[in-house]
Amino acid sequence: MGDGQSIHIWDDPWLPRPNSFQPFIRRDGAPTLVRELLLPELSWNSDFIAQWFEPEDVALILSIPLNQRSIPSASNPSPIVETWKRIWNAGIPGKVKVHMWKVCASILPTVAQLRTKRIWITDGCVFCNDGDESIHHVSRDCSFVHAMLRKVPSLSSVISSSSDYQASMLDWLSHSMQTISSELFDFLLYLLWAVWKERNQRVWNGKNLDLEQLFFQAASSFSLFTSLHPGRSPKIKRASAPLGASSDRNFVSYLLVIEALPGKAACAWAVEFNQSPNIFESDCLQLVNSLKSEEEDHSMIGRVVDDILVHLTSIPSSFFQHVYKESNLEAHKLAKLALYSNVFANWKGSIPSTIRSLVASYCNTSSH
Ligand SMILES: [Zn+2]
Repeated sequence: MGDGQSIHIWDDPWLPRPNSFQPFIRRDGAPTLVRELLLPELSWNSDFIAQWFEPEDVALILSIPLNQRSIPSASNPSPIVETWKRIWNAGIPGKVKVHMWKVCASILPTVAQLRTKRIWITDGCVFCNDGDESIHHVSRDCSFVHAMLRKVPSLSSVISSSSDYQASMLDWLSHSMQTISSELFDFLLYLLWAVWKERNQRVWNGKNLDLEQLFFQAASSFSLFTSLHPGRSPKIKRASAPLGASSDRNFVSYLLVIEALPGKAACAWAVEFNQSPNIFESDCLQLVNSLKSEEEDHSMIGRVVDDILVHLTSIPSSFFQHVYKESNLEAHKLAKLALYSNVFANWKGSIPSTIRSLVASYCNTSSH
């Protein structure tokens, strides 16, 4: 059994994040072992974790389910880490990976999930009218999902093994990944995502594809994707970022990461709203250069670079371009505004009145 005894927070891949599987920023005096983050009864010590990690990392850590099988341990390489790695390195679009991550982290907004937050929408499963649309149901156990997977004869073993892993999607995927080829595993993930996409079409847009149409569409877009991304060789665990012993150097690295993170946030936004093509402007020259380079980035921002590259795979024709700070003043003002007003906002369509003048002045400067 693993209990996090020897997992190293800063050297071992343990977080469900592409591609580094590690937290972003190390602060002086931070704990070094995962077990230090646990309470005696083996639950996450969330207050303590919040003191040492960035909010995004805190959310990731707390999303890792703690049960005896899934707590990472170095002696018994955790199935959770191995399966995460495999999913994040799969030859599938970033949005499919993010979907599978939500499934495994039990945060997919199904009807049953929404009910726990007292949000009520339609009743039951849109495919089979089963009363409870749980994450397991819509992602694996529904008869519609089975019918979809049965279209691929070599997936039959995967379907029949699902009853052995009722409680855990991750354990099931972990088992499946060992029993089928990697291409087939990618296709499996893609099909499961396609069902979820169809589910959303039915719930939110009242549109219906039948099983044949959906399978045909999924299979052809999957093969198109793989033909456009031939031999996407999975990235193997990177060497850990060199961390300076002096706190000065840590601080400089810290600033660099802060400069790079908005680029990642912008990409995530574009992926979420399916916006492409995009030109992302950043005044962080190191970030822009590193994204263009074929070389792996071993600096502090390497992990951010990896995340952005994953996002870019699902927003075609988008790229980063360097701009000088002077021509990016409005962006800095916006960032400051967000900092002080303590809100996180994004919008589409009409611009919120509080920032309209800033955006207008940005558009004017950039048209020169
Ligand atoms: Zn169903």
